[in-house]
Amino acid sequence: MLRGGLIFLADLARRIDLPLSVDFMAVSTYGPAVTTGVVQVLKDLDELITGRDVIVIEDIIDTGLTLNYLLQILRARQPASLEVCTLLDKSVRRIANIHIAYKGFDVPDVFVVGYGLDFEQRYRNLPFIGVLKEE
Ligand code: 5GP
Repeated sequence: MLRGGLIFLADLARRIDLPLSVDFMAVSTYGPAVTTGVVQVLKDLDELITGRDVIVIEDIIDTGLTLNYLLQILRARQPASLEVCTLLDKSVRRIANIHIAYKGFDVPDVFVVGYGLDFEQRYRNLPFIGVLKEE
């Protein structure tokens, strides 16, 4: 998932010793996703996933509403399997019930940036994950 998952994917893919293909998708939320959970697909996959084993790579799952909607879209394409891998899990804020097959770290209810995660498009290039201070 663009764009936050990009750096995690780059590191992760190099540690997976299996034939695989990499594809990208970008979504944005229509206004307050927290209330609607409806997302707009800004960039769709280039490849068909029907009959393929698919792992969605995420930077962080917060309420889970964005991912929940995305998974519905992907499931409709009938992949052989569909799993979720996230670097960070902010489970205290979860609204949608999502099965996470692969998880890096739990984070508390703070806003984190770095290693792909942004604040207004900044800080993605930080080589670490930090908590953004209000000031
Ligand atoms: P959800 O639909 O799970 O509430 O939102 C997930 C998306 O919100 C993530 O993919 C990410 O783009 C953004 N997000 C949620 N929490 C954080 C955070 O702490 N830091 C950053 N940079 N983005 C976050």
